[in-house]
Amino acid sequence: MTAAAARPSPADSEHRPTIVIVGAVAAGASAATRARRMNEQARIILFEKDEHVSFANCGLPYYIGGEIEQRDKLLVAKPRMLRERFNLEVRTRCEVTAIDRAHRRVTVRDHQGGGTFTQPYDKLILAPGAAPIVPPVKGMDAANVFTLRNLQDTDRIKDFIARRPAGRAVVVGAGFIGLEMVEMFLRLKMRVSLVELQTQVLPPLDVEMARMVERELRRHEVDLRLGSGLQGFELERADGRDTVSHVVLDDGSRLAADVVIVGIGVRPNTQLAAEAGLRLGESGGIRVNEFLQTSDPDIYAAGDAVEYTHAVADLHMRVPLAGPANRSGRLAGEHAATGRCAPMPPVLGTAIVRVFDTVAAVTGCNERCVARLGGTVQRLYITANHHAGYYPGAQSMTLKLLYRPDDGKLLGAQIVGGEGVDKRIDVLATLIHLGGTVQDLTELDLAYAPPFGSAKDPLHMAGFAAANERDGLVQFVQPGVDLSTTQVVDMRTAAEMAKQPLVDAPHALHIPIDELRRRLGELDPGRPTVTVCASGLRSYIGARILMQHGFRNVADLTGGAAMRAHATNHEPTRT
Ligand code: FAD
Repeated sequence: MTAAAARPSPADSEHRPTIVIVGAVAAGASAATRARRMNEQARIILFEKDEHVSFANCGLPYYIGGEIEQRDKLLVAKPRMLRERFNLEVRTRCEVTAIDRAHRRVTVRDHQGGGTFTQPYDKLILAPGAAPIVPPVKGMDAANVFTLRNLQDTDRIKDFIARRPAGRAVVVGAGFIGLEMVEMFLRLKMRVSLVELQTQVLPPLDVEMARMVERELRRHEVDLRLGSGLQGFELERADGRDTVSHVVLDDGSRLAADVVIVGIGVRPNTQLAAEAGLRLGESGGIRVNEFLQTSDPDIYAAGDAVEYTHAVADLHMRVPLAGPANRSGRLAGEHAATGRCAPMPPVLGTAIVRVFDTVAAVTGCNERCVARLGGTVQRLYITANHHAGYYPGAQSMTLKLLYRPDDGKLLGAQIVGGEGVDKRIDVLATLIHLGGTVQDLTELDLAYAPPFGSAKDPLHMAGFAAANERDGLVQFVQPGVDLSTTQVVDMRTAAEMAKQPLVDAPHALHIPIDELRRRLGELDPGRPTVTVCASGLRSYIGARILMQHGFRNVADLTGGAAMRAHATNHEPTRT
């Protein structure tokens, strides 16, 4: 039986349900178009409080920076197309202000025509997204202070920069949007300060991985202020409006600013749902079941406003990203239109960002997440080229895996590098989604030719390292481990050691890997021994040599001297 034959065809039904959708961007537009594809008869009404529907939020920073040249390209589907191709009733500048569940109708304020009206529904889909968090600081409404969520914000920022060529930008918040804006401001030849309350950029990354992104920011002369909170703004009058002249941090420092972007996170738009008595979850998003139904089965919710189930941690959490928003919207639309859909799968929070020449990506659990999981967790780092080293242009990437040592189950991964980070994180996300293990990583049959990868891909290398550890061929110690009482053997060249001294291990013996066998006599086989190299590969080979020569307690410093420098917050002398 074909899939098509298995489904009841709503198109044949006499029933013409009215599906009302609140919000018409990622989740709302996906819901509407899927609902139409599943039910040709339904009346589908999209209410959007702003002017634009189905635009590309994710492209906004690149348009501000000029990398995307035409504004029109950001408009993924225009109202006319949604009307003509999908027979949707698109009502822009119409804000849904209340839900009357008893009578199944919503109240709508028409910002264009004025007045309010009610609209009955059979099924209601809430896709109102999220709004930028606005800190309670005087001056947030100043002429040169902006948040970035939609096209209006984008137009205001672009227009401001065009009218008053701005030399100094202060970006508050070092999450994905903040980092993208930093890069775009530098592209516009501005000087940029980046202020972050936490002591690292990109909080989804673990701190030692984030250090590599920070190094890239400093390499581009971004004035990085980590562990600094926004205390306030110094204001002056310009063109009849309050304008920020300086951003004041809680350590007392003052940063001169021509333009300020505040990107400290988003808050789900749950007011409508809360006022209608729909259940909210502990993370603050709208609670939905696997079919995106809220606590009222005729009302669905999708996108940034909801909380999802995390695939690894089995927690409810908010993941304000475009992928889950589009997928949840699509499923909600299908269920509203047909009464059935595949269940919404748990999410991994897979995300990626480009910061100049560096790419950082994450999927699944990070350290904070595995701490909540409990149980024993192993972690390892490998550094490898994105394609064969002998083929021109190879770029290095550092990959961190978190996995369960007992069954090898992958829990999470992070990668910082350049080219090729995207495809590796996607393979890892796929594997984690399917419940894969580190052994599965060693077995993947991946495409290879020199311009694209290596016969032993970085993913294989990570899998091999984990499998070796699980097989007892090697033990790992973590980058920040106290080395003061262990025998440490540094297997790098003298030049490498000069470039990147091994942090907090002045007693380390320097025995380059190729000299190890003939210099074994310099070492005490009875002492706990840690082998070290730049990234952990030669030190693994060294550990195997020592173990097979009667050294009983040998461990390999995973991630090598480079990761130790990041973990202990010591920048290398040269990068
Ligand atoms: P939204 O896109 O916020 O849309 C909700 C819509 O509902 C809004 O247009 C709003 O006006 C409307 N609305 C709200 N309340 C009402 C109401 N009462 N009545 C009528 N209309 C209402 N994600 C990634 O995965 N990768 C990226 O690279 C990435 N980059 C981003 C860059 C920027 C600058 C921004 C802002 C976001 C980025 N995101 C990215 C996040 C991604 O855009 C969001 O996860 C996604 O847009 C969420 O979709 P949504 O439909 O739930 O919400």
